[in-house]
Amino acid sequence: MTSVKPRTIRIPESRAPENLIRARERKFGDAYCCIVCGLPAPAPKFYCHVVEGGGVALHPDDEALYVPDGGDMCHLPLGPECLKRHPELKPYAIRA
Ligand SMILES: [Zn+2]
Repeated sequence: MTSVKPRTIRIPESRAPENLIRARERKFGDAYCCIVCGLPAPAPKFYCHVVEGGGVALHPDDEALYVPDGGDMCHLPLGPECLKRHPELKPYAIRA
């Protein structure tokens, strides 16, 4: 048994204004949403592997260390604007 933990990062929460989110939802239907701002992202260029039930991203190089549990949210979109605003997420972004 190894005790090496995979690197993770807390995903910053900076929700876009509700009215903007609702307008985008009307346009894009049930597309997955950006993990930071909540805006629908119908054709995302970047993803994060979200774990711990949300709010935490797994480092792509540490996939092998990750033990899947009930909190695995799989790959969710990360909008390019949010990636720019939060450069600390860059090592955790996976190109689509
Ligand atoms: Zn975003």
